[in-house]
Amino acid sequence: MPFTVADKKELLEQEAHRLYGLLGYVSRIQAKKWTYADCLQIAPYTLSIRQIKKEQNAVILAHSYTVPELVLGVADFSGDSYALSLKAKDISAEKIIFAGVWFMAETAKILNPAKQVLIPAGKAGCSLADAITAEEVRALKKEYPQVPVLCYINSSAEVKAECDVCVTSGNVFDIAQRLPSKELIFVPDLLMAKNIELELVRRGTPKKIIAAGGSCCVHEQYTVADVEKLRSAYPDIVVICHPECHAEVCAVCDYVGSTQGMQDYVARSTAKTFGMLTEQGLVNRLEAAFADKQFIWPFGTCRYMKQNTLENTFQALLEPQPEQVVSLPESVIEGAKKSLQKMFELSK
Ligand code: SF4
Repeated sequence: MPFTVADKKELLEQEAHRLYGLLGYVSRIQAKKWTYADCLQIAPYTLSIRQIKKEQNAVILAHSYTVPELVLGVADFSGDSYALSLKAKDISAEKIIFAGVWFMAETAKILNPAKQVLIPAGKAGCSLADAITAEEVRALKKEYPQVPVLCYINSSAEVKAECDVCVTSGNVFDIAQRLPSKELIFVPDLLMAKNIELELVRRGTPKKIIAAGGSCCVHEQYTVADVEKLRSAYPDIVVICHPECHAEVCAVCDYVGSTQGMQDYVARSTAKTFGMLTEQGLVNRLEAAFADKQFIWPFGTCRYMKQNTLENTFQALLEPQPEQVVSLPESVIEGAKKSLQKMFELSK
């Protein structure tokens, strides 16, 4: 392993202590917590990555769903898609390492095209972003020529370039409500489309949502039975889920919101036990941030997000491979930027 930091025992022990302070509350698979020995084992990587990124004037952005050793151990910023795109926009460092999936790294490139953007996991996909192509969006626009097209941020740059406004799970309901049209095309999340329709009815501003695409392979798995199981095992539990879940699951949860929304909800809630119908990475972040609260996580890991590791982050910094370098045609950047800028404008 070509570390640039001499493997001095003292340095590694200091790093392991730092990591243990951050990761000690976090569960690994089968509810096993991180130990000091685990931290000592990854210390050569985290130490080297932190040193190299300083030398290279690089910034690491990590989505909350990636592994905790990246999120807590080496990232400069972590959060959900929206928070990270806001951050990416204003980064002045020369290089952005985006630990996430491909569409997210593309978003960073669109918003800050002069920077070199690298993704450790290479072309890591997403079951939502892969569910629709730009060509299919063009066909929808042809079929419904006057209808505004909203795309969830979990879509490719080419798809974003075909849409009028991009949205995230945090702003989708407000933006859908604010648009004057009575009909909207929404891609690529069929389950979220249903949740938009229901939420707009609840708000007294119903609209017809023409949806196409697929679903998130993590959030689509949760059922009403999972919620019932949590409630019977933990009578005081507060169950929270993401709007990428089925509408009937959202209907029986105590809170439905974006990744950031869930974090804010836990922070202001007086409850002690939370049932988390979402990706494991967010649960790990909450465990680290709220040691006095208990988080019950039934299951749900994103196989795409977990492709980012300390090892490939280290390697991407030192010797990026072609599939780790994000590059997009100028015309796609321009088109996609318009839909993202429209989102920032409508989110104010
Ligand atoms: S959690 Fe779902 S939406 Fe997020 S990257 Fe994974 S598959 Fe895509």
